[in-house]
Amino acid sequence: MRRTLVTTPLGWLLVAWMASSHVPVAELSTWLAVFGLSWGVNLGVLWRVARDGGDGAWQRRLVLGVAVADGLAWGLMFALMSGRDAALDSALGAVLAGVGAINAPVYITLPRGYRALIGSMWLLAACAYPLHPQPLSVLQGIVGLALFFTLIGVYMAPISERVLEGIRLQLANAALAGQLRMALQLVQQDAATDALTGQPNRRALDRLMAEQAALAGRDGRPFSLLLLDIDHFKQINDAHGHAVGDEALKAFAARVREQLREGDVCARYGGEEFVVVLPDTDLATAREVAERLRHAVAERPLLAAPRLGATVSVGAAQFSGDRTPQQLLTMADAAVYAAKRGGRNQVQVSVGGSPPAG
Ligand code: GH3
Ligand code: MG
Ligand code: MG
Repeated sequence: MRRTLVTTPLGWLLVAWMASSHVPVAELSTWLAVFGLSWGVNLGVLWRVARDGGDGAWQRRLVLGVAVADGLAWGLMFALMSGRDAALDSALGAVLAGVGAINAPVYITLPRGYRALIGSMWLLAACAYPLHPQPLSVLQGIVGLALFFTLIGVYMAPISERVLEGIRLQLANAALAGQLRMALQLVQQDAATDALTGQPNRRALDRLMAEQAALAGRDGRPFSLLLLDIDHFKQINDAHGHAVGDEALKAFAARVREQLREGDVCARYGGEEFVVVLPDTDLATAREVAERLRHAVAERPLLAAPRLGATVSVGAAQFSGDRTPQQLLTMADAAVYAAKRGGRNQVQVSVGGSPPAG
């Protein structure tokens, strides 16, 4: 719509050229001044509508206003300049028919706007008849335009309906695709999350370790992992029941999570065992983190009612290029075993190539 308005001055030039030898300069320039003013306002309005977006009723009313103003300005041309020369009358009528034809596809999604445009254009053009009733060419122009606009309106209606239906379908499809994407995201998130603790599950852990191993292989960046095994967890279940055991597991996961920095991940490995992946971390730092976690668990109870504390044994291992993530887990597991044998509530690191002796 803005494009057609921008090309409107070409129409003025055409009209000025055709009318120059028959119409007094005063009337030609009156029309140009009125049209120029309404054209400028219309462009401004459309620019604002495009900038502010939205498809509210207010914007629709503005666009209808633009259509009416545009139609009146073109109709004024016929009203002011016809009635002087039969050939000019036909040419002016043809210009109006052309304006109507060009605007039909422009308003295809807003048939009301199109009716407003051609209606106002024809009404003002029809004022030429009371002004210059004598020449038959004026009447012919007015009647011809009425016929032409009616036909375009009739042919346009079903096409417009089909285009609108297509747009409605597209919007519905886009909404459906959005819903599907969101549902898929939820399913993917669910498939990677442990239902009890809300932490990443074993599947997510495997993927994360593979990613970290690839990064370490490519950039030589170290990464370490900690395997945490809650001490004597079975006794908690036995003493307080499985439901309290579940609450203790949740509290344990939250306690660990709050100690980690962004980028570190605590996944539930299985049962009462968790794996913490520490990107960009060497073994010495991993040991410090492990000690911090061990302290955080032991220093205050996991649950307030029943008041229930726990300790944790931790095994730490650092990834190196000649091992698979699975071997890294085996090494950390061996370190946990050493910590259990060492009396629990402690950290053991897996150094060098061989796992610590059990
Ligand atoms: P250790 O210090 O040697 O690790 O002793 P432990 O009792 O922690 O180890 P063990 O492997 O003997 O027992 C683990 C217990 O964890 C047994 C199992 O019932 C319990 N457990 C595993 N998963 C869950 C769970 O989802 N909820 C609850 N409540 N208990 C669980
Ligand atoms: Mg265990
Ligand atoms: Mg245990």
